[in-house]
Amino acid sequence: MIQIPKGCKDVLPSQAYAWQYVEAAARRAAEAYAFKEIRTPVFEHTELFSRGVGDTTDIVNKEMYTFLDKGGRSVTLRPEGTAGVARAFLEHGLAGGVLPFKAYYLISAFRYERPQAGRLREFHQFGCELYGAAGAFADAEVISLADAFLKNLGLCRVELRLNSIGCKHCRARYHEALKAYFAPHIGEMCEDCKVRFGKNPMRILDCKTEGCKRIAADAPRMLDYLCDDCRAHFEQVKTLLSEAGIAYTVDPSIVRGLDYYSRTVFEFVSDAAGAQGTVLGGGRYDTLLEQMDGKSVPAVGFAAGMERLLLVMEAENCLPPADTGAVCYLAGMDDASHAQAFLLAQQLRSAGISCETDLMGRSVKSQFKYADKTGARFVAVLGERELSEGAAEVKDLRASSSERVKFAELAEYIKRRM
Ligand code: ATP
Ligand code: MG
Repeated sequence: MIQIPKGCKDVLPSQAYAWQYVEAAARRAAEAYAFKEIRTPVFEHTELFSRGVGDTTDIVNKEMYTFLDKGGRSVTLRPEGTAGVARAFLEHGLAGGVLPFKAYYLISAFRYERPQAGRLREFHQFGCELYGAAGAFADAEVISLADAFLKNLGLCRVELRLNSIGCKHCRARYHEALKAYFAPHIGEMCEDCKVRFGKNPMRILDCKTEGCKRIAADAPRMLDYLCDDCRAHFEQVKTLLSEAGIAYTVDPSIVRGLDYYSRTVFEFVSDAAGAQGTVLGGGRYDTLLEQMDGKSVPAVGFAAGMERLLLVMEAENCLPPADTGAVCYLAGMDDASHAQAFLLAQQLRSAGISCETDLMGRSVKSQFKYADKTGARFVAVLGERELSEGAAEVKDLRASSSERVKFAELAEYIKRRM
C-alpha cells in the first residue's frame, strides 16, 4: 500500500476541529490588530528564497524542496511565509499605498528536515507581517499580537524570550569579536559551524549540536555591541512591553535561523511538550525588502508553528472538547418515513441546523446507535403514525426527554432548546 511521505501528517476529520479552533483564534488575534489576510503561492522561483531567506541559512543550504518544472525553471516549495509576502508587497507596488501594510497568513510550508515530534517536512504556520514602520511601537505591537494570540489559547507555560541582534553597522564589530572567540575552538565544532564561521559566525549561536552549544555559551553577546540607535530601540521595545504587561526574558542566545533579521528578535518558548519548544518566532527585518528590490522598507513580523502549538495545547490541556455530530438525526422506520425524513432534513439545514438521515439502510435501532455514537443532540423519529399526524417524536438525548413536534415547527423547536 502507498503510504504518506516521510515527515507529513494527515489531519483526520476527528482531529480537524483542533486545527480550526487554533486557526480561528489566529484570525481573531490578527484582525483585532487590523491585520488582513494575504495568500501567496505554495511555490516561488527558487531565487526568491536564496536571496530573501539568505544563503547562509540551514533552510536554503539544506532544507529546501527545489525542483525543475517542465519548462526547466527552478522552483521551490515555500519553506516559510515572509519571502512570498515581501515579493507580493513589492510586485503590487504596495509600498506606494497605505502604510503600514499589515498582513497575516495561514500556510503550509516545506522543509527537508529530519522528522521528529514537532519537526515535520510539511508543516503549517500562522504568520504576521507589518511593513513600513521603523519605530519600536511596531515591534511592540507585533509581539503584543503574538502574546494575545497565545494567551487567548489558554497557554500558561509559554515564555517570551527577547534579544536584539543590532543592525549591519554594529553587527560587523560583533562578528569580529565572535570570530576571535570561536577561532581557537574551530576544531571542536560541527562541520556546519565550520562553514558558518567563515560565512556568518552569528549562525553558530543557533546551532543545535550539544558541543557547539557548550562552546557558544560563553561567546560575546550582541547586546554588548549595540550601537546607540539600536540600543535605544531595544530599550524602547522593552519599556513598551513592560507597560503593556507583557512579561519577557532577555536571552542573548536568540539569533533566529534566518539571515534577514535585524534589531529585535524574539521567540515564544514552551517547556510543555518536549524538545521542539519554540512555538513562535519573529523579529525585525529592515533589510529584507531592500535585499529583494532595492527599496528600503522597514519590516517586523513573526511565524508560529501550528503543529508545535497543537502539541503544547494538548500537553497543557487547552484543547476544547472534540466536535459532536449533527445537531439532529432524523430516523425513519420504513421507506415512506425515510423519504419524509430526507425532505425534513433539507428544511432543517436551510434553517441552519446540521442534520443527517440514514444512508446505510439501517434498522431504527441501529440508527439510534449511530446517532448516539456520533454525538447527535436530538433524534427525530418518523414512522407510519408520525407521517399521518404530520409530527415527529423528538428525543433530546441530553435531557433524556421526548416530545411530539409538528414537522413545520421542528426547526423552531430545536433552535429554542439548543
Ligand atoms: P527551529 O530552530 O526549531 O528549526 P526555525 O528557527 O527554523 O525553528 P522559523 O523559521 O522561525 O523556525 O519558523 C517559525 C516557527 O515555525 C518555528 O518557531 C516553529 O514553531 C515552526 N517550525 C519551523 N520549522 C518547523 C518544522 N520543520 N516542523 C514544524 N514546525 C516548524
Ligand atoms: Mg529550523
